[in-house]
Amino acid sequence: METAETIWTQSLKSVKERLGQKEFERWFSNVVLGRVEEGRIVVEAPLAYQADWIRTNYLPLLRQTWSDATSSEIEIEIHSNGNGHGDTNVPTESLLSKQQKQMDDRPVGQHTFENFVVGNSNQFAYASALAVATEPGRKYNPLLLYGGVGLGKTHLIHAVGSHLGRERALTIHMTTSQSFEQDFISHVRNRALDDFRAKYKKVDVLLIDDIHFWARKEQTQQEFYFVFNTLFERRKQMVFTSDRPPNEIPDLDERLVSRFSMGHMADIQPPDIETKVAILQKKSEQFGVQLPDDVAFFLSGRINSNIRDLEGCLTRLAAHLEFTQQDLCLDYVKTNIDTILPGRKEKPTSDEIIRTVIQHFNIKLTDIKGQRRIKSIAYARQVAMYLLRTILGTSLPEIGMQFGGRDHSTVLHACRKIHGISTTDDRTKKDLHDIRKAFGYA
Ligand code: ADP
Ligand code: MG
Repeated sequence: METAETIWTQSLKSVKERLGQKEFERWFSNVVLGRVEEGRIVVEAPLAYQADWIRTNYLPLLRQTWSDATSSEIEIEIHSNGNGHGDTNVPTESLLSKQQKQMDDRPVGQHTFENFVVGNSNQFAYASALAVATEPGRKYNPLLLYGGVGLGKTHLIHAVGSHLGRERALTIHMTTSQSFEQDFISHVRNRALDDFRAKYKKVDVLLIDDIHFWARKEQTQQEFYFVFNTLFERRKQMVFTSDRPPNEIPDLDERLVSRFSMGHMADIQPPDIETKVAILQKKSEQFGVQLPDDVAFFLSGRINSNIRDLEGCLTRLAAHLEFTQQDLCLDYVKTNIDTILPGRKEKPTSDEIIRTVIQHFNIKLTDIKGQRRIKSIAYARQVAMYLLRTILGTSLPEIGMQFGGRDHSTVLHACRKIHGISTTDDRTKKDLHDIRKAFGYA
């Protein structure tokens, strides 16, 4: 029987393969496995914002790698443990103190001002955030950035944090509304409200993402009001984000609505086509994709929603390019548009894709995931791998793992093969079409 530690080491290994050495070290190098219970584990990161980041960005991946290693589902909680103290009541638990900052003096992922593409739709928010990062506590206080999903709110608030963290010796507290709430509740439960308040009193810069989640949370709002006033009186900079203006957040305390309104509010609108093109071009460099102008314009015209979708589109393009030998051209993109654009529906999960494939070919899950080499099974397996790669952008090693620990080169070979015959072989064409259609993705 494998121990939890071994499984954890194994799943970290696949996370590393997926993220690459640099990104992995940035977020996971000092993350440890905490409590282990039946069907549930606790993962601990030293810093609160690191825990938030992992929770927001990597939780599904962690769950997936864990369940791949054990063939069972697991619930994962990610906590910050106050830099190894393991005691959530340590007053400075999630503060980036001066010392910690020196240890942790890195920008938050790619979310910097330099990486933010400015256009009409976000110029005002960008300029406001930059002003705050340059002269905290002076001009716009509090700053509230608001706008729809995937438009860059988290990017900008992180950019403020990392800019200030690099430039000045300030105590910065960067968190999400959910973490603030959890933290508050746990202090109340431990009768340590004074510690909670003392902790916030020490903050020079308070950054809280997604405050719309406080809708109808009366107690949390009340406590936040208290924190807000304490910091405001001391002219400490505060930045918040929300998916809508404060007066539209259901049951947000009138006093808070008025505090926010007295500060500076900047909205982010959905990007216009020129901005989308600029973002695609900038991001394509990061993705290592050579993106011709006509393709960038074509895709920008077809994606009308948010920037996260633009990124998803690039991930899938990069996946396509891995097994096409040709350069990216508009014809290719038009022919494969179904799998490159985000579907109208929610994307299927990898489980759904695999399940649909086995139903289509009428084979068993254990067969497709297993080692049998019978032609029909091997073919179904290759089709499933190809679909995971092109629709979800799942990495080759990760796909390999989902199919009984196969090597990434085997997966690449499978994808190339299916891709190659998908345009020439009518049967494959039809198989792919029917399967995609079964989960509403054709
Ligand atoms: P939100 O918090 O508003 O839902 P995010 O800040 O998480 O959105 O943005 C979604 C993704 O799009 C992130 O990866 C972010 O880096 C990227 N993004 C958003 N706006 C821009 C921009 N103007 N330039 C570059 N990348 C952007
Ligand atoms: Mg966000």
